[in-house]
Amino acid sequence: MIQKTLIILKPDCMEKNLAGTVLSRFEAAGLTLAACKMIQISETLVREHYAHLVNEPFFGFLSNWMMSRPVIVAVLQGENAIEKVRELLGPTKSANAPAGTIRGDFGNKEIVTYNICHASDGEASASAEIARFFNENEVF
Ligand code: ADP
Repeated sequence: MIQKTLIILKPDCMEKNLAGTVLSRFEAAGLTLAACKMIQISETLVREHYAHLVNEPFFGFLSNWMMSRPVIVAVLQGENAIEKVRELLGPTKSANAPAGTIRGDFGNKEIVTYNICHASDGEASASAEIARFFNENEVF
């Protein structure tokens, strides 16, 4: 099934100049860019995006960090894109992510928050997240 999924190249990815490298991994796996832009995330957006984490002790750290510099949000499209992108990323904790995955290769092994890239985790979140960050006429 052809799907669309949302990714965010997080502040650590931008700071390390890894945006091209990370996008290349997705493209090499057969995924195609359907939308892409650089934005400074607002507090409203970050609270909405991480609504499931607002009560976590690390939420303040996570949200301040996500707003700390511009990030790239993009929509990737392809066969089984939602699961494929999550597999290419690896698990949330970069320390547990195997070599060859994006988080395993580039994420911070000590600081869980710094894991390079966000990706939608299911069909419902993918459509909600795409609509959160893009107008209809920005997705091709
Ligand atoms: P994922 O991004 O893999 O879908 P979550 O939705 O659970 O994972 O968490 C969102 C983001 O919050 C993570 O990608 C990571 O940056 C941060 N995070 C998650 N768990 C922790 C934690 N225990 N300590 C610090 N930061 C965390």
